[in-house]
Amino acid sequence: MVAELSTLRDQIDEVDKQMVALLARRLALVEEVGHVKSQHGLPIYAPDREAAMLASRRQEAADQGVPPDLIEDILRRTMRESYASENDSGFKCLKPELRPIVVVGGHGQLGRLFCRLFELSGYQVRILGSQDWDKADELLKDAGMVVVTVPIHLTEQVIRRLPQLPDDCVLADLTSIKSGPVQTMLEVHQGPVVGLHPMFGPDISSLAKQVVVYCDGRNPESYQWLLEQIQIWGASLNRISAIEHDQGMTLIQALRHFTSFVYGVHLAEEDPRLDQLLSLSSPIYRLELAMVGRLFAQDGQLYADIIMSSPQNLAMIKRFHQRFGDAIAILENKDKAAFKQAFDQVEGWFGDYAGRFLKESQSLLRQANDATHRG
Ligand code: NAD
Repeated sequence: MVAELSTLRDQIDEVDKQMVALLARRLALVEEVGHVKSQHGLPIYAPDREAAMLASRRQEAADQGVPPDLIEDILRRTMRESYASENDSGFKCLKPELRPIVVVGGHGQLGRLFCRLFELSGYQVRILGSQDWDKADELLKDAGMVVVTVPIHLTEQVIRRLPQLPDDCVLADLTSIKSGPVQTMLEVHQGPVVGLHPMFGPDISSLAKQVVVYCDGRNPESYQWLLEQIQIWGASLNRISAIEHDQGMTLIQALRHFTSFVYGVHLAEEDPRLDQLLSLSSPIYRLELAMVGRLFAQDGQLYADIIMSSPQNLAMIKRFHQRFGDAIAILENKDKAAFKQAFDQVEGWFGDYAGRFLKESQSLLRQANDATHRG
């Protein structure tokens, strides 16, 4: 039996080695695609091509008795790698005549990412760091674009500190809140203004499939090239007013980060043994713990700034607190009928999304389980 198993395992090893060789060939081809796209200024993410390719491979897999989800998983993971490697080819420069881009806060996490993307696209980039204000006039006098990416609580004062910029200079920011920064940029600069909010952190491998939200400030025709450049990097754009953006962020960022924060505080106070919790945990609990834990691996100041950025956030958090209390009352009354009624109401509110989210989360949980190693 041992010999039989060993022969089969040798054959599996052989197939796996062929898969490695095939992946190496695929990555080499992708690198060539990267060069062609970079020359012609094509976005690294092509949703239609991706969907058509996946549909064909799923069909071919089904015809050969391979589960279609298996090939889709493999290809999606491979494509992630491909998007990251396409970055290395650089990007077409859509505004070669642009004077230098000055990134205020360019040594920070997000600043470094954007400096790299601008440089990979052939722009001349200068950084104005916190210690560089004595050289600010020199750095900024011929700027073609200024991008402000400093901690939220400093953003407006840093914008006000900027010397007068050339009239045609684009003034932009990457701040996670938009109303205050956009308004301040409009006050200090008479030229083109745009507010950007990258909906991702600095740890992504490529911008493919990421979203950048933008809020028009002034003279949109002057920064159209920037929006197109961001799309070439692979991101999708989402245009919204600064006020609507900030309202959305109340739920998407402030409340979510706050509940993670409180959950972390609660865990730390309860002080369970984390290794024991993990050894008992289901994939969903491990994911939940990871989502909470990752917050505390980041900058507390950034999250304090996001959560406390507007009175709307506090009002929303207080309403959540109220609902938490209402739900506890249901428990105290052991009122299962009320619980079920509330449950059904929420299910109705989610509508078709409930089923979709169930399916989406199943795929995430399978991936989380795949990544587990129980030695
Ligand atoms: P960071 O703390 O890593 O970087 C901020 C940089 O600004 C630092 O290099 C700091 O030295 C510099 N700085 C501080 N004061 C300055 C001054 N007076 N003049 C010039 N430079 C100064 O922060 P970050 O995470 O890169 O965030 C920067 C901005 O990006 C914030 O507005 C944040 O809302 C936004 N943002 C961050 C993320 C994220 O996940 N990190 C995501 C989206 C948007």
